Amino acid sequence: NNPFLSIRDLKVHFSTEDGVVKAVDGLSFDLAKGRTLGIVGESGSGKSVTNLAVLGLHDREHTALDGEILLDGKELLTATERELERLRGNKMSMIFQDALASLSPYHTIGAQIGETYRKHTGASRREARARAVDMLRRVGIPMPDVRVDDYPHQFSGGMRQRAMIAMALVCDPELLIADEPTTALDVTVQAQIMDLLKELQQEFGTAIVFITHDLGVIADIADDVLVMYGGRCVEQGSKKEVLRDPQHPYTLGLLGSMPSLHGPVDVPLSPIPGSPPSLLNPPSGCRFHPRCAFMEKVDGGRCTSLQPVLEVVDGRGTACHLAPGQRRELFADFATAR
Ligand code: SF4
Ligand code: MG
Repeated sequence: NNPFLSIRDLKVHFSTEDGVVKAVDGLSFDLAKGRTLGIVGESGSGKSVTNLAVLGLHDREHTALDGEILLDGKELLTATERELERLRGNKMSMIFQDALASLSPYHTIGAQIGETYRKHTGASRREARARAVDMLRRVGIPMPDVRVDDYPHQFSGGMRQRAMIAMALVCDPELLIADEPTTALDVTVQAQIMDLLKELQQEFGTAIVFITHDLGVIADIADDVLVMYGGRCVEQGSKKEVLRDPQHPYTLGLLGSMPSLHGPVDVPLSPIPGSPPSLLNPPSGCRFHPRCAFMEKVDGGRCTSLQPVLEVVDGRGTACHLAPGQRRELFADFATAR
């Protein structure tokens, strides 16, 4: 299974008046078609920034990118704005938390979905409208042939989110990036949207990157999980491996508040004491060390002096100085509590 999206040692650094913010600092992952990768982390962990870079939507003036982003074998970091423009909405697409910000208030829902379709296919207005109706039907909008002429403000929040999904999928993209698309919605609508994404993925074989701070959402939708902290991946693996057998103290902390894998969908991030690291002056050694309950278990003060390396074997990896045996012992209480 060749990865459709392949990211290698990605760095996204912003220049600010106070210095360089290393928002993403050496991130690698692969994603195959038809699979969903859940990226989880607190805000400021670099998850959204990573995906804006994939889409080429970062602020070019203040951002330095390094590494490799391969989409179906094509290097995106060196792609021109025009090439990216052609890929966006067509081969790769995105949905965000705030549908209102992504939809124009001045044009009908149908016109906006149709416009994206026309831009990439050269279809006529009539064809585009028919396609918009069809897409609205597929995402579960009732009376799509009537609602197609509504403006965004005439739609409820859940319907707008569906319309945004319709717009994102109108050209059958092979990669869909979903950045907290259900965070603003109530639990029932959230569950419906997730089911819809799963259905559409089955139908189209889309590769999905799903960004969230909510492990309940990850448990529901992801095949694989990548846990980000301070601009780096601290743990990755299949959903089962990461949620049932976390290997990194940060993941363990995130899981702390989750009642069970099959609990309610709307589980907030567990409050881990302390706050996310500054990416202007990241902590020395392991970026998690100021908040880690286990650092005194590691010999030689390595947690504060040496950045742990993420070693990945068969898609499974963790960046922590604790030895596997130590983790088994230290995390055992947690395992029985679950
Ligand atoms: Fe904690 Fe040290 Fe592991 Fe970092 S490397 S997570 S500080 S034990
Ligand atoms: Mg974000």
